[in-house]
Amino acid sequence: MTATWAVPAPAAVALPAGGLQLLVLQPSPFCNLDCRYCYLPDRQQRARMALPVLDRVMAQLMASGLVGPALSVVWHAGEPMAVPRRWYEAAFDVIARHAAGRPVTHHMQTNGVLIDDAWCRFFQRHDVRVGVSIDGPAALHDAQRRTRDGRGTHARVMQGIAQLRAAGIGFHTIAVLTRPALAQPDAVFDFFAGLGTREAGFNVEEVEAAHRQSTLQGTDGTAAQAITAGARAFWDRLLQRLAEAPGALRIREVAQVLAGLRDPGFGQHGGNAQNQAGRIVSVGHDGGFTFWSPELLGSVHPRLGPAVLGQLAGDAVDWRGLGQQAALRCWQAEIDAGLAACRAGCAHWRLCLGGAPANKLAELGTLAGTETLACRLGTQVVIDAVLAALERQLPISAALR
Ligand code: SF4
Repeated sequence: MTATWAVPAPAAVALPAGGLQLLVLQPSPFCNLDCRYCYLPDRQQRARMALPVLDRVMAQLMASGLVGPALSVVWHAGEPMAVPRRWYEAAFDVIARHAAGRPVTHHMQTNGVLIDDAWCRFFQRHDVRVGVSIDGPAALHDAQRRTRDGRGTHARVMQGIAQLRAAGIGFHTIAVLTRPALAQPDAVFDFFAGLGTREAGFNVEEVEAAHRQSTLQGTDGTAAQAITAGARAFWDRLLQRLAEAPGALRIREVAQVLAGLRDPGFGQHGGNAQNQAGRIVSVGHDGGFTFWSPELLGSVHPRLGPAVLGQLAGDAVDWRGLGQQAALRCWQAEIDAGLAACRAGCAHWRLCLGGAPANKLAELGTLAGTETLACRLGTQVVIDAVLAALERQLPISAALR
């Protein structure tokens, strides 16, 4: 039986003045790799954001009232480093000009294969926060992260990381956990503890957009339960290793749960940045924009249509009237129905705050749903493992450097 959730009548959406936490810019959909679990349908397209488009996008954003005293920009694509450095040199100038004295922090999440001396100098010159996507030891990584002709990329990524280290550039990592990875917690821990990463993040292999089949899906309820138990065993072991080697590795998900528990506002929040309009703005190479999860940018809702709310490259957006726009109101109303259902029925609500609309839409076909594979394995299991470790008085807080 398919669960249904009541969606309230769409009310006007109040956008948070100065509340933008992240500006996600997609300079191109193109990626130079073809990872097995990639969800981007347009990763072969070489279209690139024109600088006049970026100029117009920034002018409109600065007029929106959403930008606060500082600006965080995430360059997200495709592969952001497949766009030439000279484009970024000009783009960073455009953004700095519009930011008008506000500090701007640039973040780039890369597959790592194009990192060389020249890119390292660029990162240093602009103090870019670099994240590298790497899945762990070579066998795990190369099974998924491949070139278009099917070759593994681990050796090239490690070369890129060696360049970063030689240049003294700090970096974080993000790994995608597949089913084989869950069976190898010690190998995964040892690999990242020895890599020199500032922080290791672990995403689960999600069902999303063009990626319809995850290794973490069970064929039936029993198989799904076994995978969930495997994920819990993975995290229990990682936490045990953390406790045994304080300072060896900082793990993003553990840090997030501990930060949530220490948050003075614990229990009082109504959602997170991904499910509240105006906290994240994602802009495609053509200037189309949306709020909420950045992965929604190319998504189409079966009832509500495309997630794109408008164009920042063209005529002036009526920011004052945007909260009344039918599409925005309908999307937020359905998201809010999901938040209400999560709050009413999920024991993990106060730390998860309702998850990501992109996962709900991709897995459930609606934003109003609750549990997904992504939240069960990527959020609930981690919260349960961290709370159990704290109850056992494992010294995991001290292990976070
Ligand atoms: S863990 Fe899943 S079901 Fe629970 S609050 Fe988060 S998104 Fe909702």
